[in-house]
Amino acid sequence: MDTDVDKLQPARDRTDESLHLERVSTDQALAENVRLGAQTDALVESARSKADTILDLARDKADDKLDKVHRAEQLIQAVQEERELEDTILHNERRLADLRLQREREVHAEAIQDLLPHERARTDRYLMHERTRADDELAHRDDFLGMVSHDLRNLLGGISLNATILSVKASASEEGARVTAGAKKIHHYVARMDRLISDLVDVVSIDAGKLAIRPQPCDAAALVDEVVATFSQVAADKQISLRAQTSGLAFPAEMDRDRLMQVLENLVSNALKFTPAGGQVRVTVQRDDAQHLFSVADTGIGIPQEMLELIFERFWQVGKSDQRGLGLGLYISRCIVDAHGGRIWADSVVGEKSVFRFAIPLTA
Ligand code: ADP
Repeated sequence: MDTDVDKLQPARDRTDESLHLERVSTDQALAENVRLGAQTDALVESARSKADTILDLARDKADDKLDKVHRAEQLIQAVQEERELEDTILHNERRLADLRLQREREVHAEAIQDLLPHERARTDRYLMHERTRADDELAHRDDFLGMVSHDLRNLLGGISLNATILSVKASASEEGARVTAGAKKIHHYVARMDRLISDLVDVVSIDAGKLAIRPQPCDAAALVDEVVATFSQVAADKQISLRAQTSGLAFPAEMDRDRLMQVLENLVSNALKFTPAGGQVRVTVQRDDAQHLFSVADTGIGIPQEMLELIFERFWQVGKSDQRGLGLGLYISRCIVDAHGGRIWADSVVGEKSVFRFAIPLTA
C-alpha cells in the first residue's frame, strides 16, 4: 500500500524539477547579467580611459597656453623695461641738447651784442650817405626842372609877345584879319603849353612832397570874380554864358590865393571845355561857420557816375576824344585842396550837367 509519502513523491519530484528549471534559468539570467555587467564595465573603462586621454590633452593644451601667456608677459615686461631705458637715454640727450643750444644762443647773443653797435654805425653811415645822395639828386632834378620850365616859359613869353605884336601891326585888310586869327591861335597854343609845363612841375613837386601852401589873407568872393573875368573872353568865343554868383559880400579868408585860383581856373577851364555852345557855367562861393564852399556848375556833357572819383586820380580822362590836357588838372587840384585840409568832389548827370565843389575850412 502506498504510503502518504509515496503519494506525495511525484508532486515532490515535479516541484524539484520545476525548482531545478527555475535555478537553471536564474543561473542563466545571472550569467547573462554577469556578462552584461562585464561588457558595461568594459565600456565604462573604455569611456573613462578616453576621457582621461581627452583630459590629458586638454591639460597639456592649457599648460601650453599658460606657458605662452607667461612668455608673452615676460616679453612685454622686457619691452617695457627697454622702453623705459630708451626714454631715460632720450630724456638725458634732450636735456644735453637743450643745454648746448642755450649755450650756443648765449654765445650768439653776446656776439650780436658786440656786433650791433658796429653794424648800426655802418648802416647809419650808409643811410646818411644815401640820403645826402638822394637829396643832392632831388635838388639837382628840381634845379634842372626849374631851369627848364623857366627857359620854356621865357620862350613861350617871347612867342606870345611876337604874336601880340603881329596882331597889333596887322592891317585892317583881309590879309591882316588872317594874321590876327593866326596870332590868336598862337596865344591859345602858348596858353596850353604853359599849362602843361605848370602841371608837370606841380606833379614833380607833389611827388617830392614839396607842394608848398602859403596861406595869406584874401577875399574868397574876389577869387570867384577874378576867375570869371579871366575866362570871360574864352566863354564869349565859345558862346557860353559864364557868370559868378556871389552875394556881393566880401568873404575874408586865410588861404593860398594863387593855389586856389589855380584850382578855380582848372575847374572853369574844364567846364568851358566840356560844355557846348549855348550852355551855361556858374561859379559860386558860400560861407558857413566852418568853411568856404566853392562850386563850378556847367550844363555840359557830364561825367559817368563810375568816373566821378577816378577823374581826381592822375592821368585819368573820361573820353579819349579830348586829349588837350594830360589828365593832371583835377589831381593837382585835389592835392592843393587836401593841403588846405579841405575836400573836393563832383556830381554829374551824363548829357546834362556837372558840378564840381570844394570846401576849404576857415582854419585852413
Ligand atoms: P585834363 O587836364 O586832361 O582836362 P583833368 O584832370 O582836369 O585833366 O580832367 C580829367 C578828366 O575829367 C577830363 O579829361 C574829362 O574827361 C573829365 N572832366 C573834367 N571836368 C569835366 C567837366 N566839367 N565836364 C565833363 N568832364 C569833365
